[in-house]
Amino acid sequence: MIFFFVFLLHVAYDHQGQGGGPRGTPSVEAYCPFGGLESLYQFLTTGGFIRRIEPSAMILFAALVLLTLLFSRGFCGWICPFGSLQEWLGLLGRKIFRKKYNPTGAWDRALRYLKYVILAVIIALTWHMGALVFRDYDPFLAFFHLGAGMAELPWAYAILGAVLAASLYIERFFCKYACPLGAVLGVLGKAGLTKVQREPDGCKGCNICQKKCHAHVDFLSVTTIRDSECNHCMDCVVDCPKPNVLTVRGPRWKFSHPVYASLLVLGLFALIGASQLAGKWQTRPAAVSFANNAGKLDPENIRGWMTLQEISGGYGIPVDELYKRSGIPARVAATARLNTVARTYQLEFEPDRVREIVRGYLAGAPARKDQGQKDHGSGSEEEVKGFMTLNEIALKTGVPKDYLLKTLGLSEQIDARQPVREWMHAHGKSIQDLRDAVKSHR
Ligand code: SF4
Ligand code: SF4
Repeated sequence: MIFFFVFLLHVAYDHQGQGGGPRGTPSVEAYCPFGGLESLYQFLTTGGFIRRIEPSAMILFAALVLLTLLFSRGFCGWICPFGSLQEWLGLLGRKIFRKKYNPTGAWDRALRYLKYVILAVIIALTWHMGALVFRDYDPFLAFFHLGAGMAELPWAYAILGAVLAASLYIERFFCKYACPLGAVLGVLGKAGLTKVQREPDGCKGCNICQKKCHAHVDFLSVTTIRDSECNHCMDCVVDCPKPNVLTVRGPRWKFSHPVYASLLVLGLFALIGASQLAGKWQTRPAAVSFANNAGKLDPENIRGWMTLQEISGGYGIPVDELYKRSGIPARVAATARLNTVARTYQLEFEPDRVREIVRGYLAGAPARKDQGQKDHGSGSEEEVKGFMTLNEIALKTGVPKDYLLKTLGLSEQIDARQPVREWMHAHGKSIQDLRDAVKSHR
């Protein structure tokens, strides 16, 4: 567990320092098997992957399916770094609160179905929209993105905070109630060949196993543990006071728990190694690609790690035209990665803006008034749209952001880099309020 956790921290640290893309380092999403499931529909129908997902995620998902059919849900007990984090927080919580809280009863049973609902919603939306809809709410991603700051994924950080706090008190809180990958593995794991088994003849009925089990599995009424919540952590096997009463076995084999864990991890490495030998393992884009699966130039392929120079060459747009339309000042190097421009040059700049500009250019649109630097601030209130960020509205209309916030009675905590439609309703505002605020400044 420590190995996989440290490995992923290392991946996240490298990625945030060096950026992604063919010349950068992989993101943690390249090592998330759930990304493979999210991309499965796209992969089966087009052979491609949804944005941000690399072939390694699909290989990990396939490996996990196979390993779960052999070893049941051991991934959750021995490998998943987010599961480990919750487990360690649970240990810390026990030290702080001096007791273990492991809910049982009707609420607990009902809430355990929540993860299946979450899974269904994520898969339906992701497959339908061809985009990672869960990304903005994903606490796993948020944790391994901490170095990049919280502004990029505010919802995900809020959920992460809640999950970490709850994990101090409730063992494996996210695993039990919300993890969509855990939901898949739980169902698959029921068909897994390797199970914890109880030998009723030697069992003295002390029920220590159930007290130790985070999933509160009902041991005494069964001999083979098939509960979908069992993550093969082996706490019960280790803590059973009678030797050989609880064991882990398959149809023709019986393991000690260290052998079980070793085989699981070695199996994972063997499958990754085989995919590497077959030349299929790929954790970052092999080359900068500007075309979509149909071979057409597609601005959606613009990534934060691309430079203006690469975009200019890839889409056939003169680099001067990119500067002019985007309003990026000349002091910004054409070789700077888009996602470093705002931080390095202290500018209000969103990489998404370049996507819009390229889309307009490819569609043959002339440079719009609001796009050039010298034309900033001439947009009317009617041009204020819900998909724009507060920064963009300020840039387009020339009305200072602070004035807009003050007129609307909002605090400066509002993230000016988020589309206004994502926060205005929660603050009781409408697009008309924003337009009125722009008008009042005039
Ligand atoms: S349930 Fe989810 S978070 Fe928990 S260990 Fe399994 S995959 Fe990881
Ligand atoms: S304690 Fe035993 S039954 Fe409970 S999750 Fe761990 S291995 Fe499964």
